[in-house]
Amino acid sequence: MAVPVFRFAPSPNGPLHLGHALSALTGFDRAQRLGGRFLVRIEDIDVARCREEHIAGIFEDLTWLGIAWEEPVLRQSQHFAVYARAAQWLEAQGLLYPCFASRSEIEVGAAAGAVDPDGAPLYPGLHKGLPRAEIEARMENGERFALRLDMQRALAVARERLKGAPLTFTELDESDRPQAIEAHPELWGDAVILRKDVPASYHLAVVVDDAGQGVTHVARGRDLYQATGLHRLLQVVLGLPEPLYHHHRLLADAEGRKLAKSAGDTGLAELRAAGASAADVRRTLGLGS
Ligand code: GLU
Repeated sequence: MAVPVFRFAPSPNGPLHLGHALSALTGFDRAQRLGGRFLVRIEDIDVARCREEHIAGIFEDLTWLGIAWEEPVLRQSQHFAVYARAAQWLEAQGLLYPCFASRSEIEVGAAAGAVDPDGAPLYPGLHKGLPRAEIEARMENGERFALRLDMQRALAVARERLKGAPLTFTELDESDRPQAIEAHPELWGDAVILRKDVPASYHLAVVVDDAGQGVTHVARGRDLYQATGLHRLLQVVLGLPEPLYHHHRLLADAEGRKLAKSAGDTGLAELRAAGASAADVRRTLGLGS
């Protein structure tokens, strides 16, 4: 069997916290157990929010945790041309359309209570089917636009590719037992594939890079469980291989809220400065040494 390839893919828009340590160690430990490779990928497409100091902090934190990774580290901000090519291909298949709508137009237009799995208002198809002349006029005017996935068409293409088999992903449990999970990309509606502000999106970049880097195992938090459905759809439509997934539990703070980067008291650098060791972090997370 080919050597398994794991990756940890943090966004450097804040310091790493215990939840990141759980993701990184879960992947790293599994890679070690299976004799696999371990990569770190810096997901910095959000150029306005990502900071060099956070990238440096990520490497320091991971080293402190006893994690080793392969060089060179891929930075997504150096890969915009690759995402553009994938988007062009999707566009050529008639699967993308331009959307000029602002955030507030989408909020106003969304059906009451209709949200995507991230809790954002579900895009109500405002600019789907805009007349060509209007699209051209707005583009000529320099209006900025996102490119959105025509979900119905993408699902139709996937059905054809899968020859009637359901769209699924393979979830590995704690003991690496596989389970087929039905994917529900439609929950995202016509998802943004290229953003207005940067020529990429998390969903496109992650599937393109996982495939490009030969990633076979994705270990990440449960907060991305439904995103995996959309990733599978993009993989099928783009003809990319299917990694195995493990979505680990999310950590909650004392009040039961999901840990966020702003939760300074669980920042790894702060724990380190307070004298904690990597073994302490592992113990806190319930991981073996
Ligand atoms: N960059 C994403 C994050 O920091 C994780 C992406 C992934 O593991 O697929 O939340």
